[in-house]
Amino acid sequence: MTELIYDVAVLGAGPAGIASAISARRFGARVLLVEKYGMVGGMSTTGMLNVWCGDSKSKIFNEIVSKTTKTMPSGRRVFAPEVLKPLYIEMLENAGVETLLHTTVTGVSVENGVIKSVTAYNKSGEMQIKANTYIDCTGDGDVAYLAGVPFEMGRSDGLTQPVTVEFMIGGVDDSRAIYREAHVDDKLKAKMQEYLKDGKIPFPVGMIILLESLEPNVAYCNMTNVIGIDGTNAFELTKAEFEARKQIPKIIEFLRNEVQGYENCVAISSSVYAGVRESRRFKGGYTLTPSDIQGARTFDDWLVYGADYCFGVHNPNGKVENISEKPQETGGTYTIPYGCFTPVGVKNLMLAGRCISGDHYAHSSYRVMPICFAMGEGVGTSVAYAIKNNKVATELTLEDIKNVQNLIK
Ligand SMILES: Cc1cc2nc3c(=O)[nH]c(=O)nc-3n(C[C@H](O)[C@H](O)[C@H](O)COP(=O)(O)OP(=O)(O)OC[C@H]3O[C@@H](n4cnc5c(N)ncnc54)[C@H](O)[C@@H]3O)c2cc1C
Repeated sequence: MTELIYDVAVLGAGPAGIASAISARRFGARVLLVEKYGMVGGMSTTGMLNVWCGDSKSKIFNEIVSKTTKTMPSGRRVFAPEVLKPLYIEMLENAGVETLLHTTVTGVSVENGVIKSVTAYNKSGEMQIKANTYIDCTGDGDVAYLAGVPFEMGRSDGLTQPVTVEFMIGGVDDSRAIYREAHVDDKLKAKMQEYLKDGKIPFPVGMIILLESLEPNVAYCNMTNVIGIDGTNAFELTKAEFEARKQIPKIIEFLRNEVQGYENCVAISSSVYAGVRESRRFKGGYTLTPSDIQGARTFDDWLVYGADYCFGVHNPNGKVENISEKPQETGGTYTIPYGCFTPVGVKNLMLAGRCISGDHYAHSSYRVMPICFAMGEGVGTSVAYAIKNNKVATELTLEDIKNVQNLIK
């Protein structure tokens, strides 16, 4: 079996993984970044999103924003995924990160609370990845799961937020098209209810979420919706893919018939996979709570600062009333402490991205991409710092963390 040996192995190349890998490398570690699809970026590219929700104080995120993003009259910060793709590649290459695509993590070997190796599979067969420290950025926390870290999923009844296939709509008349919030009025919402009642649109579709784009005559659509899906179960994910993709022509029909500016619209592309908003949240040294966010709490041992987003739970029951439409405001920018990134029971594993230690409602705020980039930056830097100073990444002192803060501020 091929053996790969690095200082740091970052598993998963979404916003958290890209920022973790670049940060660890910029601070001197030899880094391997592993990704199961043929493209880095996670939800920002293969997931076909085009809006940064919220904000954070992350140098890497700010660098990306300055090169790709336009603030629209709605206030939304919009990017084009096709522009992000080559930019991410350039940033990874410039930093000197070694990246392995088309490679899925399948196993973890743990001895006495230490990961000895991670097994990954690709067309060349099985590979064994050995690193001083591993950073789990797989979104679902596949590495932490395989290493036996305890986790929770969903709210108290176990239900999670819906799963969505994002898609792009072409043939939109930019001069007349309406978008979410700005123009989706009660009349149009009532029309959607009529379509649902008549069975022309299948429940739980119902929200009208259309987003303006940087590409001419194109809108992004976040309207497919599948509920009751465990995003870590391939059978249920298959059901979600089938249901969501069958919803697309019906949504297009609704838009063509009823929505100004969409009379001649067509679906032109869709995400590589159904996007999972919420799955495993691992138990860490600290669990972030809604009151930490509501109170805009500043932890002494923060690894993320300037995090900013409302609580936005897309209704797990699929009802049309959707909290994310009426976001519950937080108390201002907040921090995320070191303990949220250190999974219990495994010494050389750190978490970054939506799988960190937090509760269901807190997760609905910190899961957005700008905050996931900041998590990667904080975690990648602290891991490189630990290696450089012969320390264990999950056992840093407050003094160490203050040193890390000075590196990322
Ligand atoms: C439908 C939907 C709409 C959203 N809308 C927005 C929005 O408009 N704006 C916003 O800011 N946020 C939005 N979010 C939230 C945000 O996109 C995610 O929470 C965020 O991308 C999480 O970042 P991450 O790096 O943790 O995970 P991801 O972006 O999911 O990246 C994880 C990466 O790990 C890879 N991976 C997974 N398992 C393995 C494995 N076993 N081996 C190797 N690689 C693996 C995946 O392929 C992926 O590239 C949305 C989320 C969803 C699902």
